Amino acid sequence: MSLKEYRAKRRFTRTREPSVSMEKKPEDGLVYVIQKHRASHLHFDLRLEEAGVLKSWAIPKVPPNTPGIRRLAVRTEDHPLGYERFEGTIPKGEYGAGTVEIWDRGEYRLLESGPDRMTVEISGRRLNGRFALIRIKAREGGDKTWLFFKLREPAVADRNDN
Ligand code: MN
Repeated sequence: MSLKEYRAKRRFTRTREPSVSMEKKPEDGLVYVIQKHRASHLHFDLRLEEAGVLKSWAIPKVPPNTPGIRRLAVRTEDHPLGYERFEGTIPKGEYGAGTVEIWDRGEYRLLESGPDRMTVEISGRRLNGRFALIRIKAREGGDKTWLFFKLREPAVADRNDN
C-alpha cells in the first residue's frame, strides 16, 4: 500500500497532519482508531493498521457498538501510521478542512481478510467485540462503498448432557 494519494491531496506546509508513517514497536498491537471529523460534513474516520499504513473508511453516522445497526463506510485513501494520534484543526482551504478529534482508540485483531470482507476484533473504549466490513457495489461511490457493523456474539456452545 502506498501513501501517494494521501500526500497528493495535502500541502504539508499548511497542515500539521503527518506526511510519513512513524516507526512502531513490533510488539505493540495493531492500531485501531476512529476520528470524529467536522469537515464540510461531520463524519467518523475508521482506521485500521495494515502493512505499515492505516486503511481508512469514512462513516457518515455514529459507529454502532450494538449488533443489528449497519453503517455505510466509504473507503478513503490510506493514512500514515501515527495519524491515529492526530487531533486539531486542518486549516480552511486545505483538504479535509475542519477539526479532528479522537473518538475511540485501541487495538484490533484481524480475524478474516479478503478483498471484499474483513472481520476484526476491536478493543477500544467505545467499540468492543467483533465487527465486519463488507464491500458492496453501490450506484454512487462504486466499489468504495462498504458496510460496517457489529457481529452478534457466537452462541454459547450447547452443553452435552448425555
Ligand atoms: Mn475525514
